[in-house]
Amino acid sequence: MTIQDPKLPYDMNALEPYMSEKTLSYHFGKHHHAYVNKLRKLVEGTEYADLELEDIIAKARKEGNVAIFNNAAQAWNHDFFWKSLSPKGGQPDGKIKELVESEFGSIDDFKTRFAAAATGLFGSGWVWLVLDQGKVKITSGSNADTPVGTSAVPMLTLDVWEHAYYLDYQNERGKFVDAFLDRLINWNFAESNLKSQPATKAA
Ligand code: MN
Repeated sequence: MTIQDPKLPYDMNALEPYMSEKTLSYHFGKHHHAYVNKLRKLVEGTEYADLELEDIIAKARKEGNVAIFNNAAQAWNHDFFWKSLSPKGGQPDGKIKELVESEFGSIDDFKTRFAAAATGLFGSGWVWLVLDQGKVKITSGSNADTPVGTSAVPMLTLDVWEHAYYLDYQNERGKFVDAFLDRLINWNFAESNLKSQPATKAA
């Protein structure tokens, strides 16, 4: 089985009160699982069937297979999103902190820019902190869009589909984004993603 079952790296109630157990029971338990189950059905018996998830995304992107791309990218993005959150989230440290400060001026300036990207994204999508050619950047994309398979390497992501926040914050996406930036963001995960990049390994 190349497409892994969804995993949550903490308990369903671990992110309370900023992300409720109810939200995770739907978002992880229903939405994420549905993308994975749909993808398994779509690739069954096709030349996608034995590929790793990243390779499915790359092939579907290249071939313009929208259904497979959307479900594969959503499966990958959600897995990466759960890891981008932590019950002990909040303050950055180490090399990632240095890179963010050198690019945005300060952590607060980064938060302001990230929040603007997240609240400014019309409709459903994802906001990313990526590493591209040695620099950290904030990017965003609609629906299932993902940097996987592009030159931009994901460090962190935030899901801004309504299903990510509606139960906890209703229509107030900005409050959800602030909770992510101030309380949930897993900078240790970003640091580990940074360190896995050959260009930054020696630093
Ligand atoms: Mn989602």
